Amino acid sequence: MESWILKGVKTLVNEPQSVSISSPTQVKVKVSHLLLTETDALLYEGKISAKYPKILGRAAIGIVTEVGEKCYGIEKGMRVYLQPTRACGECLACKSGKSKECTSCISAGKDFDGFMRDFVVCEQEDVSPLPDSVDINYALCIEKIGIAENTYDKLNLSAGQRVAVIGADLAGLLIAQVLLYHKVVPICIDNNPANLERAKKCGVYYAFPADDELKTNLVNATGGNMCDAAVYCATSPLPLSIVKDVIGDCKTVVLCFNSLMNASLSASDIISKNMTVTSVAYAYDYTNTVINMLVHNAVNLQPFEKEVLSEYDPVKILNEFCENRAKYQNKLTVFKMIL
Ligand SMILES: [Zn+2]
Repeated sequence: MESWILKGVKTLVNEPQSVSISSPTQVKVKVSHLLLTETDALLYEGKISAKYPKILGRAAIGIVTEVGEKCYGIEKGMRVYLQPTRACGECLACKSGKSKECTSCISAGKDFDGFMRDFVVCEQEDVSPLPDSVDINYALCIEKIGIAENTYDKLNLSAGQRVAVIGADLAGLLIAQVLLYHKVVPICIDNNPANLERAKKCGVYYAFPADDELKTNLVNATGGNMCDAAVYCATSPLPLSIVKDVIGDCKTVVLCFNSLMNASLSASDIISKNMTVTSVAYAYDYTNTVINMLVHNAVNLQPFEKEVLSEYDPVKILNEFCENRAKYQNKLTVFKMIL
């Protein structure tokens, strides 16, 4: 039995507990697979503070084992994705009955109990049925892909426009692939040759290191106009200030994903380029869109390393993650949870 509770900074303990349905609109889910995420590591390290105690685990799928009498469209035995974010219930949008437009959604492992446990009981709207054609690894990346799609929406681009994607690790290459899916041209920038190689395998045509040649490469790739927007992945070791060198005037920069984000951008750079800077760290209400994208093979996870662990010690793995982020940010580490 498992239920990994974060009780404080780097204090993660297994205290199995039983959960049962307490309302007719709830479902009970046996968690089958959990993807270790950057957010889990940040919570574990205390870089993001949780309301302790909280069960860790943000990205998971499972099988429905029980449904309340008033659940519709969800049946016992269904494979489902567990929503990592929920409406806060307190903001203006939530209070006006528009919870889909919640401006301060709450997240698993931080504000409510996450999924690193055997069973989860939640409201039926907090799970999404998964079509058979959606593979486990893809389902576990729904939120990452949703952040990419949310980023694309924020940029308001047209087909053929060029977007610099700074950081070509898993997160960056998911963004690049989502841009390609929308017929926008990603230009990946990363100093790790393996990441640039993987970018090509993901169908990215332009992938450059951030070296002395970068400006020339960008001029050639954009017909001299520089990029129409930039997306900076918070997991990238490249400095955020690089954005000023890759975009034209009056363009938008989106900072994506949750990470340590020690990077900074000077006000004078923002002003001199008349830049709009915004951020995307959630994919609330994007799940159905992403599932539909996955059914249409919008992204390819083939080029990424995957490790599926049926025996694991979350404490040991999280310590390793915090020690060697770059390694974990480039592969899918999945806990196969068995009762
Ligand atoms: Zn809200």
